[in-house]
Amino acid sequence: MNSEIIAVGSELLLGQIANTNGQFLSQQLAPLGINVYYHTVVGDNKTRLQEAIKQAKKRANLIIITGGLGPTKDDLTKEAVAELLNCSLNYDMPSLQRIEAYFVNSKRTMTENNKKQALVFEEATVLNNDHGMAPGMAICKDGIHYMLLPGPPKELKPMFTTYGQSYLLAHLHEQSIIHSRVLRFFGIGEAKLEEVLIDLIEAQSNPTIAPLAGDGDVTLRLTVKHNEKVEALSLLDELEAKILARVGSFFYGYDDTSLMQELVNRLLTKKIKIATAESLTGGLFSQQLTNYAGVSEVFSSGVVSYSNEMKEKILSVSKNTLAEYGAVSNECAIEMAEGIRRLCKADVGISFTGVAGPNQVEGKGVGTVFIGVALPNGESKAFSLNLSGTRGQIRERSVKYGCYYLLKEL
Ligand code: ATP
Ligand code: MG
Repeated sequence: MNSEIIAVGSELLLGQIANTNGQFLSQQLAPLGINVYYHTVVGDNKTRLQEAIKQAKKRANLIIITGGLGPTKDDLTKEAVAELLNCSLNYDMPSLQRIEAYFVNSKRTMTENNKKQALVFEEATVLNNDHGMAPGMAICKDGIHYMLLPGPPKELKPMFTTYGQSYLLAHLHEQSIIHSRVLRFFGIGEAKLEEVLIDLIEAQSNPTIAPLAGDGDVTLRLTVKHNEKVEALSLLDELEAKILARVGSFFYGYDDTSLMQELVNRLLTKKIKIATAESLTGGLFSQQLTNYAGVSEVFSSGVVSYSNEMKEKILSVSKNTLAEYGAVSNECAIEMAEGIRRLCKADVGISFTGVAGPNQVEGKGVGTVFIGVALPNGESKAFSLNLSGTRGQIRERSVKYGCYYLLKEL
């Protein structure tokens, strides 16, 4: 079953609102096993809407049209579809009564154009609007299903989940269900990941593999279609195993997780207490860490030691280190991590020192970053990075790398 979602509304084309109805419906259709191949957006114009529907008919057997069911002149979806499909429009009595009752209740007089909202196609299945006036409808013509839904998301969403979905389930004897799984990687570029997996990507059919790059993260979405859930999952497992055999060292989690989320889980399950010493990140790591409820069990304290003086005083970084190597150095990062671990009697200390930009520091270029870790076994090490981007991006990426290194080490 292939579907197309047509969103009607000039506001969408003008960029005044985003097509969140399209997004919502796509999310709803996937688990029903319905492919969404196209999203179309068209203005409040009858000819262009009809053109869009004609186009959709060539490539979809389910066409969902959102918006334009209201009472005003620019609401012309029903007229456009009725004309194209050659069906007549009749009043749906329950809907009409509902609209009249609405006006009686709100002590307003109903204008004639409001009645228009109760018009539905002859033979259509009416989808009640429990949160507004204009009903939706569904109809099958020449083997193609059409579903018309109102534009306002607060009407469309409940209408779809309460009535639209069951219509589809009843009419589209589509058994295949889509399952997908997102694998998240860090520390490997999108191009490199693709290169390493190129044969799998080129041979993909079921499951399919879709790479997607975020800010420093790369994800692969594996999608499989199968009638049996157990079979579907085992196909995903099989492909995942092949992928991780090659790039498993960069893998950090599934689906909606994040590096920080994974780190917090690790600290909590292993009961590892952490303390942080931050210079260039200015507390960003600690701030993100404390976004997670329950982290107080494992987060002892964080220090923002921006000046050299405070690196010495609070963290006991030696004068010598600062004089000889500077604050932006391997040596300083290690001493900061060890210092904070000692000070807080934590199991692990992590430190961030570097140049966020825009200017150089100590002759070191923008993006030079050192991350120190003092580990539970007494061992300490520092990682050096050369990051690019704006000041904000360099700080954000430093935090992500900090999580990544800790996940590797703990
Ligand atoms: P109404 O009875 O309110 O006129 P309608 O079914 O005629 O509803 P439209 O007039 O097209 O729908 O849109 C009404 C409102 O719904 C828009 O102003 C906008 O806020 C919202 N809306 C419409 N289409 C979308 C969409 N694709 N995504 C998100 N919001 C939308
Ligand atoms: Mg309208």
